[in-house]
This record gives sequence, C-alpha cells and structure tokens, in this order.
Amino acid sequence: MFDYNIFIQGFPGKSSTHGGLGWSTVTLLSHKDQHIIIDVGSFGVRPLILDKLEARGLSPSDISMVLLTHTHWDHCVNWTMFPNATIVVGQADMKWALNEPPGGWHVPELYVKELNSSSQIRLVNHLEEIVPGIVAHQTDGHSPGHLAYTVDNGDYNLIFSGDAAKNRAELLSRNADMTLNLSESQQSIDYLWRLWRKRENSILVPGHDIPMKLVNGEPVYLDERKADLQYWFSDTLEDYTTIELADESALAEQTK
Ligand SMILES: [Zn+2]
Repeated sequence: MFDYNIFIQGFPGKSSTHGGLGWSTVTLLSHKDQHIIIDVGSFGVRPLILDKLEARGLSPSDISMVLLTHTHWDHCVNWTMFPNATIVVGQADMKWALNEPPGGWHVPELYVKELNSSSQIRLVNHLEEIVPGIVAHQTDGHSPGHLAYTVDNGDYNLIFSGDAAKNRAELLSRNADMTLNLSESQQSIDYLWRLWRKRENSILVPGHDIPMKLVNGEPVYLDERKADLQYWFSDTLEDYTTIELADESALAEQTK
C-alpha cells in the first residue's frame, strides 16, 4: 500500500496572454522507506516541493525514484533535484524528445539531453512493471510515447494519467487540447476509462487537475481545489490582491 500525497495540485487552465501555465500535478507516493515522486513540475514549484518534503521529514536525497509521464517542460525539468533517484521515462517518449528540433514549445531540450546521458535514467515500455504494483501504460497523443502509471493499492488502483487526460473536461468530452495527435489522444482517453472502470473505487489523478473517483459512473473531485494568483497593482508590497481560481460550482459550495 502506498500513501499518496498531492504535493502540487494540477490546474486545468492556460492564459490567453501568457501561454501555458504549466501548473501540473506533483505527487509523492510512499511505502515504508520507499519514496517515489510522479512528475516533478516546472521551475516555479521547486521551493514548494522542498517545503512539502521537509514537512514530512524528508529531503530530495530520500527520493528513490521519479516517474515521468512525459518530457514536457512543465512535468520533467526538476528531475535534477533528486540526486539518488532513478528517473523513469518512456523509451518512445525519450526517443521522440531527443529528436525534436530545439526551440519548440514543449521539450526542455537541454534537460532532456542531460537526462539521456545520466546514469540515473531508466527507460521503460508499455505494460512494464516498474516496482511491484506500479505499471507503465503507453498513452500516445499528447506526446508520442507518453506514459500513464497505475498503482495497485490493495482495494483500488491509483491511476496517474499525466497529460493523456489533462483534466476532467478532457475525460468527459473525450476531446483533447494541446495534443500532437487528436485521434491517438482519444484512443488514450478511452484506454484510461477502461483502466478506471476496471476496478471499483479507483482514483484517477490527472496531469492538470485534482484527483477524482467514479460515483455512479461520473467523475467526482476528491479534493478541494487550491489555486490562486497574488498580484501587486498597488504602490506597496504590503498591499496586494489574491484571487482564488476556483470553478463556479466550487464557489457556490463555499458561499452556501
Ligand atoms: Zn505535456
């Protein structure tokens, strides 16, 4: 049984003026002395990851494994934080990323190159069992060779969909934003649904949204969303504004 902690909640959104936010999910899975992180986020979350580890009496050197769903910048760059971790990445994903021309919007080319030549890398394939109970599932579309991971957690499975289904809207609509191949993305979303329905009470953790469970066949959020923006439109640093980025139905619940 793994204890799972969402360190950073994924957020299902982007900015029309500032592009992808890259607010992706970072999760710690712990079993006794074994600590695994699934996706490591982008640069901005480094202090937050350190704080969350410290709160559990852990440091980056205690992480034994990092599972990457794919090599996009908002999921992978912080692999360098974990000196003792095996960095698990899809063989097909890595091959694709290394062949991408520099300057594209998704691959952090230098971090990927460094990872490829690092002794920490472990390349895995579809349906490979990474440690007992954790299996990789190739789910193409968002990127070629993208991996989702299932974790057998006793009575239920945890399913980390990464960006094969970034959020609830993609799962429900079976449509995908920012995909490199829409029909492959749709097949991957169908595959995720099959995995999700296979075992009762399974929890799906998307790459850019909060965990969900199926209740009467419908995805229901398990956590409260926590996302905000703080900004200074004022004359002093003390005087700043915080806006909560909650969805309307969640807001309605809060104001009841
Ligand atoms: Zn991505």
